[in-house]
Amino acid sequence: MSLSQRLAKLFGGEREDADVLRVYVRCRRCGEAISTRISLRNELSIRYDESGQVSGYHVRKVLIGSKRRCYQPIEVHLTFDAQKHLLEREIGGGEFITAEEYAAETG
Ligand SMILES: [Zn+2]
Repeated sequence: MSLSQRLAKLFGGEREDADVLRVYVRCRRCGEAISTRISLRNELSIRYDESGQVSGYHVRKVLIGSKRRCYQPIEVHLTFDAQKHLLEREIGGGEFITAEEYAAETG
């Protein structure tokens, strides 16, 4: 999401989504599609640079599917810049999928 879109959301009334990032993943072992909400306001940890300035944020989250009795943990690690724009995402135990792929599977 671009900064202007974020600002539009912030000031345009869709406040509940402006601070929430939805993440969609697929379990590598059983193929279950899982989604989670990450609050950009409450769940991010601050990263500082050497001079003590905020250089960005990061969050680590472990997702576990439940529908297929697989229980493999899927670890998601997201890195953000100081304006909370997503810079980098890593995943272990699964893969990232799009909202459309998630919706197609879960109805
Ligand atoms: Zn699984």
